[in-house]
Amino acid sequence: MSGRPVGPIAIVSALHDELRAIDAGLQGRSLQRRAGRDFHVGRLQGHDVLLVLSGIGKVAAATTATLALEVFGARALLFTGVAGGLAADAQVGDVVVARELLQHDMDASPLFPRYEVPLTGRSRFAADPLLADALVAAAGEVLSQPHPALQRFGIGRVRCHQGLVISGDRFVSTAAESAALRAALPEALAVEMEGAAVAQVCHDSGRPFGVLRTLSDRADDAAHVDFPRFTAEVAAEFSRDIVCAALRQL
Ligand code: SAH
Repeated sequence: MSGRPVGPIAIVSALHDELRAIDAGLQGRSLQRRAGRDFHVGRLQGHDVLLVLSGIGKVAAATTATLALEVFGARALLFTGVAGGLAADAQVGDVVVARELLQHDMDASPLFPRYEVPLTGRSRFAADPLLADALVAAAGEVLSQPHPALQRFGIGRVRCHQGLVISGDRFVSTAAESAALRAALPEALAVEMEGAAVAQVCHDSGRPFGVLRTLSDRADDAAHVDFPRFTAEVAAEFSRDIVCAALRQL
C-alpha cells in the first residue's frame, strides 16, 4: 500500500458464516447502517477496520465496496470467503490468493472482446501486489499448522495457490459448467461471485485490494452438498487466521 495510510481497512465477505470468526475478534466496535448493510467499525490486530457483509453476487459486492471506500473512506479492502476450485490441483480446503480477477460472464462481443469490461479496455484487474504478498505469506504460516476442522472433513494437507480468480453471477454447481469455464479460461484457479466486481470498484477508486478464498467445493455436481458445513467449520476459521496474520504484517 503506497501513500499515507488513512481510513480503515475494509474486510468484506459475501456470507455471514464467512465473516463470523473475524467479527468475534473485533474490539471497540460500533455499528453504522447504510443501504441495508451493517458496517462494523472497530480495531483488529492494531488496525482500524470495517467489517461488512456484501451479500452475494457482483452488484451486491460492488455496492458494498463503493460504500466502504467512498462513505467510510476505507484505505484498502480485503475480500475473504469461499470459492469453487477449477484448476486440477485446486482441492477443497486449499486457499487461493487472487493476483488477477476477471468476470467470466462479461460478454459485450462483438462490440468489445469477450470478457472485456466495456470502456475500460481491460478484462483482468490486478490485486495489489503487497496485499497479495501479505495474504500468501499469512496463508503459508496458517496452513503449515494442523487444523482440527480439516480432519473432521477428512482433508489432509492443504496448499495456497495464487493467480487468476474468476467471478460471475452464477453458483457453478455442475461438472459440465466447470469444464466449460476451464476450457475457456485455462489459467483460472477458482470461481466465485464477487471478487472481480470488487476489483473493478477498487480500481476505479485507486484503492488497493486483496482477495482470499478458501475452496469449499470443486464447482461440480457435489458443490451444493459440500458447501454450508464447510463454510462455517473451516473457511471462517481460515479467513480469521489468515486475515489476522496478514494484518500483523501491514
Ligand atoms: N448456499 C448459500 C449460497 C451460496 S452462493 C446459501 O444458501 O446462502 C455461493 C457463495 O460462495 C458466493 O458468495 C460465491 O462467491 C461463493 N462460491 C463458493 N463456491 C462457488 C461456486 N462453485 N460457484 C460460484 N460461487 C461460489
